[in-house]
Order: sequence, then structure tokens, then C-alpha cells
Amino acid sequence: MANASYRDFDATELFCPNCRKAVPVRKRLLLVLAEGDRYDYTCVYCGASVGEKMVTRGDGDGLTFLVE
Ligand SMILES: [Zn+2]
Repeated sequence: MANASYRDFDATELFCPNCRKAVPVRKRLLLVLAEGDRYDYTCVYCGASVGEKMVTRGDGDGLTFLVE
């Protein structure tokens, strides 16, 4: 796969501490900031927040993934 495809990469499975396994997640736009958009990922089974992603604008690959 070309590296460019990672630009629009969305995590579809993350580890949920409640379910104790990798689970499908729902993506939710949390905040729109000057530097980018912040997304929240919640477990589809228990609704727990399992991760966040900050998608920054401008620099191209300023994609940072934060897992709590
Ligand atoms: Zn869960």
C-alpha cells in the first residue's frame, strides 16, 4: 500500500479496558480547534472512551494518535 493511504487512516479497532479486548469503535468529532480536529473513539459495546485522535491541518502528516 502507498504511504498516502495512511493519511485517511481511521482506527477501526482499539483495546477497551472494560471489555478487555480489541473492539470496534465509533468515531465522534470532539473538538474543532485552530490547529486541527480532535476525534474521540468509543467502544461500540460498552460506550467507554478508548482513544482520541488529533488530526492537524497544514503540515500534511501531522497525525497524532493518543490512547489513554
Ligand atoms: Zn468496551
